[in-house]
Amino acid sequence: MTHTVVLGGGICGLAAGFSLAEHGERVTLIEAQHFLGGLATTLRGETGAGFDFGPHAYHARNERVLNMFKDIASDGFPARAKNVRIKFRGKYYKYPLEAFDIAKSMSPILAARAFADYSIESLRRRLRPRALVSAEDWVVQAMGRTLYSLFFGPYTTKVWGVPPSQLAASFAQHRIPHISLAKVITSSLRKGRAKITGSEHRYAPLVIELFYPPRGAGLISERMAERILRASPQNEICTGALVTGLDTEGGRVVAVRYREVPSTKRDGQLAQLASGTEERGSPYTDFSSEEQRIACDRVASSIPLPALIHLLGDAASNDAKAAAKFLRFRALTIVGLRVKRPTALPAQSIYFTNKTFNRLSETRNYGGSDVCAPDETVLLCDITCDVGDRIWNASADELGRICAKELAEEGFMKESELAESVVLRSTFGYPVYMVGYERAIDTLMKELMRFENLVTGGRQGLYKYVDMDIASEMGLAMADHLLSGTSKRDAIANVPYEDRVFA
Ligand SMILES: Cc1cc2nc3c(=O)[nH]c(=O)nc-3n(C[C@H](O)[C@H](O)[C@H](O)COP(=O)(O)OP(=O)(O)OC[C@H]3O[C@@H](n4cnc5c(N)ncnc54)[C@H](O)[C@@H]3O)c2cc1C
Repeated sequence: MTHTVVLGGGICGLAAGFSLAEHGERVTLIEAQHFLGGLATTLRGETGAGFDFGPHAYHARNERVLNMFKDIASDGFPARAKNVRIKFRGKYYKYPLEAFDIAKSMSPILAARAFADYSIESLRRRLRPRALVSAEDWVVQAMGRTLYSLFFGPYTTKVWGVPPSQLAASFAQHRIPHISLAKVITSSLRKGRAKITGSEHRYAPLVIELFYPPRGAGLISERMAERILRASPQNEICTGALVTGLDTEGGRVVAVRYREVPSTKRDGQLAQLASGTEERGSPYTDFSSEEQRIACDRVASSIPLPALIHLLGDAASNDAKAAAKFLRFRALTIVGLRVKRPTALPAQSIYFTNKTFNRLSETRNYGGSDVCAPDETVLLCDITCDVGDRIWNASADELGRICAKELAEEGFMKESELAESVVLRSTFGYPVYMVGYERAIDTLMKELMRFENLVTGGRQGLYKYVDMDIASEMGLAMADHLLSGTSKRDAIANVPYEDRVFA
């Protein structure tokens, strides 16, 4: 029986392992944390209340993935309509913010300037198109400088930690639909599903129906793991096991090395995701445990792409190592609050431009009816940060107090209602698409083609800003390829770059 070692027990690695196991393959999955699910997990606080890495609601643009989620959660969780808002210049708007909404928030003079800017850019685009290198170039030519300066510029700098002039144009192109005045008018007249226009990118966050398990998002990952183990007594899931190296022979990976590592839970911090290869911020610095080695026939990786290259050691070329160093992640600190009131927010999530957090969510409003006691509620504050900065180093108590104060100012709770504060951290929250990152990715994709029995996929493994459905689809695609027996080159030769689901 062919033995596949899966690296990383997030939803991508689990989907790959689950599909291989259900097809009768032997699977060993190695996960650094003491729990499964990666970013799609639900961790428990002191009273058993569930905290996600920001609420993880399920949706799928792909029928196969949606059916897999439904099959795994066959006892069901009902769909809810998406109800997400943005607070901008003192008023609530629908998310994502449309250019019209920004315009509505302006004085007539500013609106006239924005319209003039937009019209000039539209004309310029047709008559004398400019080279678009950065996200700033892309957004300015799409919506004009006034709209860019009011919202996109400052918000992007806050979330990503760098100005849009340093982010690649493709980042904006993939996340922000081109504004056409005609489309904005027709779209604002439509409702529900009909609002999705053909021009939206498949990774765009405009999804109408969401599914959320009553006890927390982690249910799907837990059940996938159970099914991997149930498929065969030979299958193994090793948690608290950090992959520390890959052994290669003649362009094939022949073994995976790992070490047992302690849990990252401490002092109000429920977890800190990390690959162990970070220059700063890795919780895995004590390598006193003995390195173990598992022989394998092939490897499906979902750990961060730069870490995978690092772990290949001398088998990776110097060009690949340099390219891997170019790729950066924005770190993430989620502040979870257990609050003594049954409900707090008028929406599932609200985005803010002027608070410590970027997004505030109430898990119950997504369908998480049982994440905590009925007379309490769980609020999640998403904060992007850099490893080692003030937010990263602050305690759960300190961040809890800051967030509760800002929430009280908005009228969502009283500071005295705060019952518990926790933090969930990850060194890899978001891939940062710096100008020039495409070149680094091309180098790494070519490099990985040299290793026929090694595939990589997932949000971190392919360095793509995707949701759980696409991360799962990537896991299934890795399994499909391994099961097909075709060469990697044949399997991905016809996949266009943007749709690439593994490498
Ligand atoms: C704040 C936030 C909110 C989100 N909300 C949603 C949402 O509502 N809906 C949605 O569909 N998607 C959402 N997403 C996206 C979703 O989290 C991801 O697409 C998905 O979970 C990625 O899964 P993955 O398996 O590819 O990666 P990960 O979940 O990052 O899994 C990678 C795993 O590899 C492990 N690992 C890393 N290095 C090593 C090593 N050296 N050895 C062993 N193990 C290692 C990690 O511990 C981790 O478990 C959100 C993401 C964020 C950041």
